[in-house]
Amino acid sequence: APPDHRDELQFILDDVYRRGLDQRDGALADYIPELARVEPESFGIAIATAKGKVYAVGDAEVAFTIQSVSKAFGYCLAIEQIGRAQVLQRVGVEPSGDAFNAIEFDPHTRRPYNPMVNAGAITVAGILHDRFGDGAFDFMMDRFSRAAGRPLGFDEKVYRSESETGHRNRAIAHLLLAGGIISEAVEAIVDLYFRQCSILVTAVDLARMGATLANMGENPMTGDQVFELQAVRDTQAVMFSCGMYDYSGNWIYDIGIPAKSGVGGGIVGVVNRQLGIGTYSPRLDRKGNSVRGVAAVAALSDELGLHAFDCT
Ligand code: GLN
Repeated sequence: APPDHRDELQFILDDVYRRGLDQRDGALADYIPELARVEPESFGIAIATAKGKVYAVGDAEVAFTIQSVSKAFGYCLAIEQIGRAQVLQRVGVEPSGDAFNAIEFDPHTRRPYNPMVNAGAITVAGILHDRFGDGAFDFMMDRFSRAAGRPLGFDEKVYRSESETGHRNRAIAHLLLAGGIISEAVEAIVDLYFRQCSILVTAVDLARMGATLANMGENPMTGDQVFELQAVRDTQAVMFSCGMYDYSGNWIYDIGIPAKSGVGGGIVGVVNRQLGIGTYSPRLDRKGNSVRGVAAVAALSDELGLHAFDCT
């Protein structure tokens, strides 16, 4: 049992962390060469409540690139900027059941299936680029930072590494152009996408960003209204159905929390009105989700009864 002076949530977090350490499966992402250079043993978990309290354990302050976790927040901003109807015309909300980097589009509309896979996120980058031009990255950086409650950094090396090797994403972007989904500024749009993926966060940052979504777009630590209410709802919905790539169905079934993962090893989880979870461990399973991160969020969901359809 937890000693009296310690918070029970911290006790649970420490226990989940210890159990996660035993997990050594998975491998570092290496298709972006620079991503293979991180410390494979790093493991951190953080929870930020919608009331502004933060709990952390392990390497929760180690910085890593946000990668696809950025897709959730980018989508939120696109809806705020041009409205959900306009966004829906360009990107759907249907799980693809395929890998994050799949080259596939809705056969009827030519739209990407959803904004949580690369094709959809590049479309979202296209929307923000149309809106802000060269200022689009600063706009994203500002909002991501306000959601985290501190100025976030940027990993120049990972950015260059991905930009030099990101042929598949460029191919996707050109197909989006051919389908009339993004504008002719293809190279600038892909560049924005690579940059957003190279923003540096920690598990604590992800927990705080998650808590900002959970708290109806208002950062509970700073009181800053960072995201728009309607956009927050739509973002959580699409994270719920599509956030874990082709593991999304299993994820909803077992864990039942809106979440988004990235190949940098991060996962953000959002429990509406309650809390945000951030995890970091860079060894990934075959679908590109962090092995320890998935295990940790699963354990927290169980221990804290966070599943959306929890009956206990
Ligand atoms: N930048 C990575 C890519 O586009 C992001 C992918 C991911 O995190 N799943 O390949």
